[in-house]
Amino acid sequence: MSAKILDGKKLAEEVRAEVKKGVDAFVARHGRAPGLSVLLVGEDPASQVYTRNKEKMAKEVSMNGALYRLPLETTEAELLSWIDKLNRDDAVDGILVQLPLPKQIDSEKVLDAIDPKKDVDGFHPVNAGLLSSGRASLTPCTPRGCMKLLELAGAKLEGARAVVVGRSNIVGKPLAQLLLAKNATVTIAHSRTKDLAAVCREADILIAAVGKAEMIRGDFVKPGATVIDVGINRIDAPELGAGKTRLVCDVAYAEALTVAGAITPVPGGVGPLTIACLLENTLIAATARTSQ
Ligand code: NDP
Repeated sequence: MSAKILDGKKLAEEVRAEVKKGVDAFVARHGRAPGLSVLLVGEDPASQVYTRNKEKMAKEVSMNGALYRLPLETTEAELLSWIDKLNRDDAVDGILVQLPLPKQIDSEKVLDAIDPKKDVDGFHPVNAGLLSSGRASLTPCTPRGCMKLLELAGAKLEGARAVVVGRSNIVGKPLAQLLLAKNATVTIAHSRTKDLAAVCREADILIAAVGKAEMIRGDFVKPGATVIDVGINRIDAPELGAGKTRLVCDVAYAEALTVAGAITPVPGGVGPLTIACLLENTLIAATARTSQ
């Protein structure tokens, strides 16, 4: 048996096409495009790629995407004043601060300063609280993308056993809340979980959001389960040449492929959906702000 491969790239294109239609309708109604402002502090190479893509994709769906590059030595007070400015700018509907931030800046303080109505990353405690209370909120983009992939897989969530490996505020916890809202029976596993393999083997829906290369082996997977792999890990790849690296996920893909019912590929699984959901969140935020 070989699992159904969940094409995140194609699904993300479909989500972006829907967002584009929504943006066109928003422009016709309000005479302006939804605005997404991205703040990047420093020159971390991965963050530079992510933020450039966010700005580019925002423009592709006709949003007003702006990327502000601030120097590495930016102080916390300076960043907070940028956020204050964007909070008060009526043409800005979504604010995203790219993480990680340099060590002189307290990330929590910065994320807490974003107006929750413009918090398109869904990391503000107000939005996290609304999500865990089962109320409408801006929800984090990667977990939303995972839910879309589960829908694509045709996975039945009601009554299903779902195991989320990883309990971060940006992926594991919000994803567990979204699964719970769909009436799955949810277990959150983490670094202190005993016999992780046995816990995972109970899962009809298995989500890996750990950040450890191929730690979820094929024999962790229940036959027929739907497997969503969020992890991105860079490992040495001497076979590609001296000093070369390659990206691998948290699940040993080739092994899991023969056991799972459906699985996300590497690359082209969860990754493309994260940005598509960010654009969707920006449209949701813009629509909510203009209908108040
Ligand atoms: P964090 O480092 O914040 O969290 C990792 C989680 O994994 C923690 O809860 C940790 O447990 C748990 N963990 C660590 N080791 C083990 C272990 N041996 N067994 C079980 N659980 C373990 O990571 P993120 O949630 O931010 O990201 C997870 C992965 O997803 C990363 O690879 C990241 O790059 C990727 N990612 C991908 C995105 C995408 O768009 N595709 C977006 C965001 C993240 P504990 O809490 O006990 O320490």
